[in-house]
Amino acid sequence: MTEGSIQSQLQYLREEEKLARDVYLTLYQRWELRIFDNIAGAEQRHMDRIGAVLAARQIPDPVTDDSVGVFQDASLGALYQELVQRGSNSALDALRVGAQIEDLDLRDLDLLRGRVQEQDRDQDVLAAVDALACGSRNHLRAFARQLTNRGATYAPRYIAAERYASILATEHERCGRGHGGGGRGHGRGPGGGGHGRGGGGHGRGDCTQM
Ligand code: MN
Ligand code: MN
Repeated sequence: MTEGSIQSQLQYLREEEKLARDVYLTLYQRWELRIFDNIAGAEQRHMDRIGAVLAARQIPDPVTDDSVGVFQDASLGALYQELVQRGSNSALDALRVGAQIEDLDLRDLDLLRGRVQEQDRDQDVLAAVDALACGSRNHLRAFARQLTNRGATYAPRYIAAERYASILATEHERCGRGHGGGGRGHGRGPGGGGHGRGGGGHGRGDCTQM
């Protein structure tokens, strides 16, 4: 993540989420592994969330062309090329690229969170950063599990090894979806009172929700 104002970091973050989406869409085309398609959908939501943060603050949106692989930030454009190239070598490399993107995102989200805490403590930005980081932890778990299933591992480059281990040691999280409850309900039907819960959200195997 670049130095500079929080505004410029939010613009960078918007494109960083696009990087994740675009790499996953491209690697899905290459390997047709469902995980890339699923997580690309979450990254679109992350992009949208930061897009809304930018719009609410009248910060110009760097994504003027939403085409896959197009970036205003040259370093993100180069990283897109590099990651797609590496991820095209093998399915294992593709999964490692996924883990690397989430690793990088978590580091950059930490940096931005620290800056916002030091400066304006904008609660909307903090909530967005926290929601994206929660998603990234889930995505990292999902990529790591696929690697494990294939007898491979990922070594973090950006976050500390202890933190990586602790993320993998904890379960899938339900991230800032803002609706609470998650399908809990009760009611009285014709046959008398009933209650039940739906969609507890655990153990679904794909674990790629935001
Ligand atoms: Mn994301
Ligand atoms: Mn992600």
